[in-house]
Amino acid sequence: MKKILKNAYVLMSADADIKKMDILIDDDIIVELSDQMYIEDKEKIEDKYEIYDFTNKLIIPGFINTHTHLAMSLFRGIGDDLTLQNWLFNEMFPREDLLNDDLTYYGSLVSILEMLSKGITTVVDMYLFMEGTARAVKDTGIRAFLTRGLGYDNDDGWKRRIDETIYLFENYHNKYNIKVGFGPHAPYTCPMNKLEEISELAKKYNTFTTIHLYESVNEREMYSIQEIEKTGLFKNNVIAAHCVHVDEEDIKIIAKNEVTVAHNPSSNLKLGNGIAPILKMLEHEVNITLGTDGAASNNTLNLWEEMRLASLLQKSNGPEKFKTEEALRMVWENGGYALNEKIGRIEEEYKADLAIIDLNNFEFYPIDLNRLKSHLVYSPINKVYATMINGEWVYYDGEYPKLKESDYSGKFHKLYFDLEKKFKKSKGE
Ligand SMILES: [Zn+2]
Repeated sequence: MKKILKNAYVLMSADADIKKMDILIDDDIIVELSDQMYIEDKEKIEDKYEIYDFTNKLIIPGFINTHTHLAMSLFRGIGDDLTLQNWLFNEMFPREDLLNDDLTYYGSLVSILEMLSKGITTVVDMYLFMEGTARAVKDTGIRAFLTRGLGYDNDDGWKRRIDETIYLFENYHNKYNIKVGFGPHAPYTCPMNKLEEISELAKKYNTFTTIHLYESVNEREMYSIQEIEKTGLFKNNVIAAHCVHVDEEDIKIIAKNEVTVAHNPSSNLKLGNGIAPILKMLEHEVNITLGTDGAASNNTLNLWEEMRLASLLQKSNGPEKFKTEEALRMVWENGGYALNEKIGRIEEEYKADLAIIDLNNFEFYPIDLNRLKSHLVYSPINKVYATMINGEWVYYDGEYPKLKESDYSGKFHKLYFDLEKKFKKSKGE
């Protein structure tokens, strides 16, 4: 049935003004926006439409989280004070050796539910045991771009991971709101000839690629962006996470190849990697988006906090250097552009991916149309009122209407404690 969202304030895009508007949604698409939707006889209308009165609510495009590892909510709170290499090789990788599809299902489920409650409607993920994650996506309704993380240890291991990617592509691509791409973990875990192979595969399957790039400073000694460019990888649609330690020459290559950068300010600070040169990249017109990274290095999946932090960090160069709208573009339009989807704006013919905010949150006082954009970026709330994806409610007033699983918390915790027990045993503790 068609839906009419009435009497709400609407912010259509980062650069628009907030206006009172009604939104008509047919199936998964926004079909009409109007100052005052024509209302015929009330009875007739209720047969044909579901009507929602959103007086004193603000409707915004759903947020796009372009870098995370969903199942890592299982590892939230591990290794708070470690460097990236220490954290990754001593705490994460040995635990990841113990994962299975059941663990990644519940880890991903918990992450997705957290994100839906915060108005995040699209997510780009890279991890392992991705069938578990794909099942969690299917059960919650989030829009997801999934990749099986790829690293090279030996020929057999590499082949197995490529086969898992192809399996995921053949079984989940363009189904259940999922797109499947390629996820080479990083140039220090994937040698250049393997990146070449991936660039050919991404072309063959006509899909996106995502990779960690220059996250930590010591990566500058391990590879160069010039080398990666030669592999042909950047000819595909690529989202590069982090890019904290890029210099001006690197930025020129990123800009020339239209590589999107996923900026993850909390994770970069928590792991002590530094602050990405966002203003420099913007000067070169690089498409910048925002990511939370995994819950193991953030520890929340709150894109509101990332917007605020990204803005404050860049303002350390001068408050006029980074505008409120710039932060909003990073969670909306820039993400839609990176993923080549009609998302990140409220516009006719765009996907009905929306977040509804109750303006009766103290964070949003005073409720003054001229100030709401500032509240969005600088006064983050913890939960939205409702979240819609593809025209369907996936979160509404504290509930998850699509979710059938009721004991996800019990199952998540049981699997988590079993995993920790095994991890301790494997270390001989
Ligand atoms: Zn990451």
